[in-house]
Amino acid sequence: MIFFFGIRATKVKERKLKRTACPNCQTQDSFTVSTFSKYFHFFWIPIIPLFKTHVAECSNCKKTYSKAQFTPKMLKSLENENRIDPAKRPLWQGCGCILLVVVFAVLFGLSMYGVYMRANNPQAGIEEVDDRRQFLDADMGKMTKAVQQKDTLTFALKSCVDYDIVDGLDTENFEYFTQLKEDKLLILMKVSDIKKIETKYRKELIDVIEDCLYAMDRDDLIKETYIAVEGKWNTILVKTPFNEDLGGRFANKNLLLPFYGTRDTTSTTTNVKDSLMVE
Ligand SMILES: [Zn+2]
Repeated sequence: MIFFFGIRATKVKERKLKRTACPNCQTQDSFTVSTFSKYFHFFWIPIIPLFKTHVAECSNCKKTYSKAQFTPKMLKSLENENRIDPAKRPLWQGCGCILLVVVFAVLFGLSMYGVYMRANNPQAGIEEVDDRRQFLDADMGKMTKAVQQKDTLTFALKSCVDYDIVDGLDTENFEYFTQLKEDKLLILMKVSDIKKIETKYRKELIDVIEDCLYAMDRDDLIKETYIAVEGKWNTILVKTPFNEDLGGRFANKNLLLPFYGTRDTTSTTTNVKDSLMVE
């Protein structure tokens, strides 16, 4: 049977025991003492160094003695040897310890990163099961500085925002994406240097966008507007017909998902609805 963890030993030193006699064959100075260092291993990786053991063998009669069986003279001779030429434990016997510390440090770092991401985005848990996030992320990737004139709605919005924003922001570097779907309008705007605006004033960017939309007078066409302002790294502001997140630091972009329709709910709720419709 193979054990994946346990205690192993390696020989770390071999020395002669001087001024001793073998109690078995009476030969003088015939002993070679081997010192073994034991360590705890896990999958053959040494984790913790343990105690040392000594075994003496008589070169004449080949009888071996564990340390408990040593004569007082043998013990004294070993003590002498340990003083002048100590048997040191090899460093590698503790390397698993270092490895474990590194592994724990990495795991700790990763979990801290997870906590940090979750704190910034409380809905992180549902992202992967919601298909609409793919659409949103794709649209986020389509934001551009180079708005084409033929993209009339975006172009009109950009012109208006450029005109309205007079304080120190570099409007030329704003990125835009808009999408009209039935009577719903999605507006994504990226302001990389949003840090220049004090947090509490950032939501005024939403006001600027809304004023511009109002000025465009497209109420006949647009019933619901979904607006998000991105900073350099994350979503800063979100406003939808149903929700808003205008704290100005970390906004939950999942609030935009209703723009892409209702979420496909799991079988249980759908089945209930289906059976009600049959009746
Ligand atoms: Zn002997």
